[in-house]
Amino acid sequence: MFLKRLDVVGFKSFAERIMVDFVPGVTAVVGPNGSGKSNITDAIRWVLGEQSAKSLRGAKMEDIIFSGSDSRKSLNFAEVTLTLDNEDQRLPIDYNEVSVTRRVYRSGESEFLINKQSCRLKDIIDLFMDSGLGREAFSIISQGRVEEILNSKAEERRTIFEEAAGVLKYKTRKKKAEGK
Ligand code: ATP
Ligand code: MG
Repeated sequence: MFLKRLDVVGFKSFAERIMVDFVPGVTAVVGPNGSGKSNITDAIRWVLGEQSAKSLRGAKMEDIIFSGSDSRKSLNFAEVTLTLDNEDQRLPIDYNEVSVTRRVYRSGESEFLINKQSCRLKDIIDLFMDSGLGREAFSIISQGRVEEILNSKAEERRTIFEEAAGVLKYKTRKKKAEGK
């Protein structure tokens, strides 16, 4: 499984539709301070189901919608699509290419899609759970996260290792079955 493409429109500083094609190997994003490098990883975490506005460096979810600049007026929605190669079937879905889309409007209304089919946020979270790429996974380590992991309580740290080891899915299912 690897990232193939990221399509973004209206998310944070990206008023224009942008498309990032990831080539095999390492991709480095470079640019001056404030040019939107971290906004790219924020977009990836958001489309994977991030629910915390704070962790996306905002106060409320609306803050991720392009808020306007000197030359452009604000937009009414943000949309991110992440396309992944799934030839190794690491994602438990019968497609060799998987795209996930998330859209949010200023009204607060939001939409989620897997391969252009409408779905629930939970479906996206379930799809990526234990893939190593979930919103809680440490495949994305943002500024300050290393300290956070080191300073976390033993129980919280255990969750991180459980996701890495691929057992979180079963624990979540067990909890649900027990009605917790
Ligand atoms: P650094 O090198 O300092 O880490 P960076 O390239 O990672 O910088 P980002 O944090 O990705 O920069 O981008 C910050 C920019 O995004 C700021 O200029 C901020 O005004 C802009 N931005 C964030 N949210 C929005 C929004 N909702 N609408 C418009 N612009 C936004
Ligand atoms: Mg940054």
